Amino acid sequence: MTMQFDTGLLIDGGFEPGQEAGEKVLNPRTGGLILDLAEASTDQVDRAVAAARGAFEGWSRTTPGERSAALLAIADRIEAEADGFAALEALNCGKPINAARNDEIPAIVDCFRFFAGAVRCQNGAIAGEYLAGHTSMIRRDAIGVVASIAPWNYPLMMMAWKLAPAIGGGNTVVFKPSEQTPLTALKLARILAEVLPEGVVNVLPGRGETVGNYLINHRGVDMISLTGDVATGKKMLDAAAKTVKRTHLELGGKAPVVVFDDADISEVVEGLRAFGYYNAGQDCTAACRIYAGKKVYDNLVADLTAAVSSIQLGNEDDTTNEIGPLISLRQRDRVASFVERAREQNHIRITTGGEVMGDGGYYYRPTVVAGATQSDEIVRREVFGPVVSVTPFSDVDEAVTWANDSDYGLASSVWTRDVGRAMGTAARLRYGCTWVNTHFMLVNEMPHGGLKQSGYGKDMSAYALEDYTVVRHVMVKHG
Ligand code: NAD
Repeated sequence: MTMQFDTGLLIDGGFEPGQEAGEKVLNPRTGGLILDLAEASTDQVDRAVAAARGAFEGWSRTTPGERSAALLAIADRIEAEADGFAALEALNCGKPINAARNDEIPAIVDCFRFFAGAVRCQNGAIAGEYLAGHTSMIRRDAIGVVASIAPWNYPLMMMAWKLAPAIGGGNTVVFKPSEQTPLTALKLARILAEVLPEGVVNVLPGRGETVGNYLINHRGVDMISLTGDVATGKKMLDAAAKTVKRTHLELGGKAPVVVFDDADISEVVEGLRAFGYYNAGQDCTAACRIYAGKKVYDNLVADLTAAVSSIQLGNEDDTTNEIGPLISLRQRDRVASFVERAREQNHIRITTGGEVMGDGGYYYRPTVVAGATQSDEIVRREVFGPVVSVTPFSDVDEAVTWANDSDYGLASSVWTRDVGRAMGTAARLRYGCTWVNTHFMLVNEMPHGGLKQSGYGKDMSAYALEDYTVVRHVMVKHG
């Protein structure tokens, strides 16, 4: 199949090539070159920010109905080109085509449609005479120009999560995809240029240290939105401090999964096989840190090991693959080194996986690390690969203490047949989300975001619209 690539940067409604050195975009299945993409220059960033500033006055004063219509049009266009977007994402990220086409694209379309509705029915405090002779009212207005920076694990979905509430709220945006996965962003840019007024969204590919760093430090930017690593989030905060920019940070995760002795173990195993390894574990909510009650621990490890060894990857017929390779050689080596260091611990057993596979591509076998203890690196650090650790616990207090003993606070789950135990445990977990008897399920109506070093921005839901708008008070003196 020959594929067409959009390579133009979107600046002020027009397309132009990047002016700086090329960045190699690679196929993770083979390690082969997809294309060499020139990144944006500082002059191009300046022009994109100026375009966004220029467009702000007009866009921020459109009605919610007008912005809603634009979001619906974007959703329809993505849906109409779903196969093309899915093929591009599958190529650039190594995702199985079925995952890209059937899981991600519908969720992306739904994200734009959700915000098209949400922007028309925001609510808040009541106008009234809180001081005699004066009427006060609350407004929610746009913030300004948002510098929006996305990671490589779900490139188009992260773009949707960032763009829809930002432009729905009346902001204008300069968007930078990950240097490793710019292809779907550049394809969506074509649609954005047709649907939106000039300058409302600008799309600039490039590396973090160059284009990203220049953009977040730009005086013309009012807000920084990042989905990425904790270390990158800290750089955003440093940059934001200089001119007191708002920040919206969605950083990493290390999701604990608490499995009580009364859980349905076959459901737990099925769930972990799916939610621990989806997208090759390159997911900040991945069910990767299992705490199992002592009575079920042995069975769980045995059944999980058998289930995980059957995960399909690297097959010639991509429709049979359940997961893909890792995004890059660097990422695969990083994952492998975590498992190697775990293997050196006497108390740890690698019960399946624990090795790279194939030649050329960046595949790593789905891995179960049994017997890990709370202080082990494999339990504490985000691996971001197809690796799940299992640790036995004695009682609920120990499980909750260990689950909460993490720098991260994004997602968690509890597995039990006892609803009281589920509720009691969920209430004690310090995570942005807790699932009960499932994991990983997201809906556009509900918020996604963290506590602690996982950051504090909410994506999806009406809460995202709040994050991308500012509360204002208008007071009118009578007579
Ligand atoms: P990363 O932080 O390396 O890169 C993210 C983005 O930031 C990229 O576009 C990159 O170019 C840019 N960037 C890097 N350095 C920069 C700088 N100095 N200035 C400006 N921009 C810069 O993260 P990644 O490796 O692409 O993604 C993986 C990470 O993202 C993981 O830690 C993962 O947990 C996290 N993540 C979090 C969520 C969430 O919702 N919380 C979702 C997906 C991924």
